[in-house]
Amino acid sequence: MRKREITSKEITESVFARIDQVESKVRAYLSLTDERAYTQADRADKAIQSSKEDFPYLLGIPVAIKDNMCTEGVRVTCASKILQGFIAPYNAKVINRLEENGYVHTGMTNMDEFAMGSSTENSSCQVTKNPWDINRVPGGSSGGSVAAVTADECIAALGSDTGGSIRQPAALCGVVGLKPTYGRVSRYGLVAFASSLDQIGPITKDVTDCAIMLNVISCHDPKDSTSVDLPVPDYTRELGRDIKGMKLGIPGEYFISGMEPSVEKRVREAIRTYENLGAVIVDIALPHTEYAVAAYYIIATAEASSNLARYDGVKYGYRIKDAGDLLEMYMKTRDEGFGPEVKRRIMLGTYVLSAGYYDAYYRKAQQVRTLIKGDFDKAFESVDAILTPTSPTAAFRVGEKTQDPLQMYLSDIFTISVNLAGIPGISIPCGFTESGLPVGLQILGKHFDEEKILQAAYAYEQATEWHKKKPDID
Ligand code: GLN
Repeated sequence: MRKREITSKEITESVFARIDQVESKVRAYLSLTDERAYTQADRADKAIQSSKEDFPYLLGIPVAIKDNMCTEGVRVTCASKILQGFIAPYNAKVINRLEENGYVHTGMTNMDEFAMGSSTENSSCQVTKNPWDINRVPGGSSGGSVAAVTADECIAALGSDTGGSIRQPAALCGVVGLKPTYGRVSRYGLVAFASSLDQIGPITKDVTDCAIMLNVISCHDPKDSTSVDLPVPDYTRELGRDIKGMKLGIPGEYFISGMEPSVEKRVREAIRTYENLGAVIVDIALPHTEYAVAAYYIIATAEASSNLARYDGVKYGYRIKDAGDLLEMYMKTRDEGFGPEVKRRIMLGTYVLSAGYYDAYYRKAQQVRTLIKGDFDKAFESVDAILTPTSPTAAFRVGEKTQDPLQMYLSDIFTISVNLAGIPGISIPCGFTESGLPVGLQILGKHFDEEKILQAAYAYEQATEWHKKKPDID
């Protein structure tokens, strides 16, 4: 586009042509906004024609958005029946940032209902398929955004990550996904799941695109009280800088029995690649890791039960007809509007917050959270970044874990601690299992040290070819 060799309209057309071609198999989108996209593309092309100077990186670039970020005038459902018919009356901060940079909005992508899940199978609308094998899940909860990037149904996407929902599906589909530090990106206009954990982040085809997207969405926003007022560096700046001497920690707790052997093999090979690039590999300990899943499912469900109390049939979306009185309307609306996983979490969350149980569960979990954060603080005294697998397995079959919530929860065993500690993490492709499914490498950094993990990710990407591999969907 800079060389005036292609227009935004042509890129947009090619993306929608690809959607026409593969979407019936992949099912990444819940709604398409082609009219809006072509208007934005047209505007971008005019701006490019008339500008003599540089234009913003994202100008005219088609981006897909997870269906939990408010986009004015667009249907936002969180893949839940309870938000049926809800049209967002305002833009999330991230959408404003994308608009200021001239993006093209392709549509809203599928997800687990209210972002609760690891496979998109908890969507009340449809199951998204993994483009590498359409009998398998893409991971979740940002499975739609990740599948859309993987299948070339957009150029980049936004997802949200509360316990792994950007990184785990990115790993399962072989693309790049980054969860920024808590507070780096505004959550204003993101439908809340667990407010002390939720963070929006980019999903892209490579590390450079990831850095560009992060440049666009990072900012201080007074409308989100947890947004931090720190300068935003140019995240592309450190890409390409030598990683010789960079200290990378390997936590023994992240190489567990029960892990898929070929996943471990690929991650160990990636660690060797880092050694060959001159990084210094250091064994570290994160001793409270084993309590992370338990603590997360107390804290996340507690916050969810509170956040989801607002869906009572009065202000948003779905309301049952013919209720006898107000209480019956509330109860029946919630009974019909929420799916089984969301109900399970509301019940769990209400329980752990209730009088008599609060101290035993909720307070205890918060104390464990502090210990987990302490583990990372201590580790980062001696290393620059940490390498782990992103997920203990490659993509599993559709239906394989739906009957066993605990098995599903364990898909996030390597990603959850990162949200509890608030640190940034990225997943990048690091090869394939014997059956040809992508494997992800996770790189973790100190609070607000996204630059370091992007630098490390880029060095690996340049030394390998994994990010160039494409699934054959046809
Ligand atoms: N899979 C985890 C859960 O179900 C994380 C989801 C997320 O990050 N939104 O809660």
